[in-house]
Amino acid sequence: MISVARAIEIVLSHVRVAPAECIPLLQAMHRVLAENIFSDIDMPPFDKASMDGYAFRSAATASVPVNLRVVGTIAAGVFPRFEIGSGQAAKIMTGAPLPAGADCVQMVEKTESESAEQVQILEAVVPGQHVAKQGEVLRADTCVLKAGSYVSPQTLALLATVGHEEVSTYKRPRVGILVTGDELVDVSENPGPGQIRNSNAAALFAQVRETGAQAIPLGIASDDLQELASKIREGLANDMLLVTGGVSMGEFDFVEQVLTEIGAEIFFKKVNIKPGKPAVFAKVGETLIFGLPGNPVSASTVFEVIARPALRKMMGFTQFGNVKVEAKLTEAFKSKTRRENYLPGQAAWRDGTFLVRPVVSKGSADVRAHALSNCYLLAPPETDNFEPGLQIEVMLRSDFWCGNGFEGEF
Ligand code: AMP
Ligand code: MG
Repeated sequence: MISVARAIEIVLSHVRVAPAECIPLLQAMHRVLAENIFSDIDMPPFDKASMDGYAFRSAATASVPVNLRVVGTIAAGVFPRFEIGSGQAAKIMTGAPLPAGADCVQMVEKTESESAEQVQILEAVVPGQHVAKQGEVLRADTCVLKAGSYVSPQTLALLATVGHEEVSTYKRPRVGILVTGDELVDVSENPGPGQIRNSNAAALFAQVRETGAQAIPLGIASDDLQELASKIREGLANDMLLVTGGVSMGEFDFVEQVLTEIGAEIFFKKVNIKPGKPAVFAKVGETLIFGLPGNPVSASTVFEVIARPALRKMMGFTQFGNVKVEAKLTEAFKSKTRRENYLPGQAAWRDGTFLVRPVVSKGSADVRAHALSNCYLLAPPETDNFEPGLQIEVMLRSDFWCGNGFEGEF
């Protein structure tokens, strides 16, 4: 059985980055740039006022207060045609171009004006004060973003500034999601005797989408060799195929058999992880296949730990690992397993320290405990008893960053 780290290494070694495509700017959100981006302009494109006030020659304020004659008003969006001579000033708005002859702006709060033709400057200024110089933010023809940059809302602003109506990004991989099990019924149904609702499809759909990839639901396959084989074959049309259930030792766990029959190359079948020891990774053609355990907490956790980094790499991310921090444990727990244990936890940032506590859980089917968590506590196999005060490694989930940071009592 291989370690989690080794499993991730193997998986990543088989990932190919998706091809690039040119898409409209707003669709680039959450994707990764496949091209270096150059600016077509200086920014700011001209020397401009960064305050509402008066533009003039800074030498005029050698002694203050000083009276200047106001020769014009400059609004943003208008290029001034006049020049500022000595003893003169122009009223100027934030973002408006500095008139020729002026080298500074004094903010309106530090002036007094009794008429439209006159202003008194109360405080001295230095050359360049409250002026944003042409090209101080960025210069034309320079590279402002490198290929491999993640496109955040802030990145979109930069791309818009430099006139990128379209941008080349890596394609969103298509990820098929197939769940297996005769006991499964759709969310809309009332489970009959022996049946349970399919929750894995919902979780994985969201996890794939959250990563920025396309989630393709492939429905429920029964525990029948023929049906499973045909659904898995159908799933091979995607870049990645997630299959849950049917990878354990049960009499009707056929996933591995089907993978072998369709000629898949199987790289591993078990990982030293709890929850979720049976975790298959295989490849058919260019399609990566993850056989995840059926239990909902296991399927979702194994996706987070092992499959999500692969998906990020496909999408062109340069950092695909999960964010881990050291946190101070606030409640005791036991972990008597020889496996690398990923326990659902609640993490919070308090006074400069990450704090964490486990969520009491009934195990790998406890969807309630899992839903209450925002991270995993990483309990190494060599330790059994974890006492309060201990520094412990924690893998933060995305919901930690989305406000689910346990603002109340901790
Ligand atoms: P398996 O890995 O197929 O042996 O399934 C392990 C456990 O997970 C069983 O209790 C299944 O009923 C349950 N399970 C399997 N698939 C799902 C699913 N899609 N949604 C919720 N529970 C599931
Ligand atoms: Mg099953």
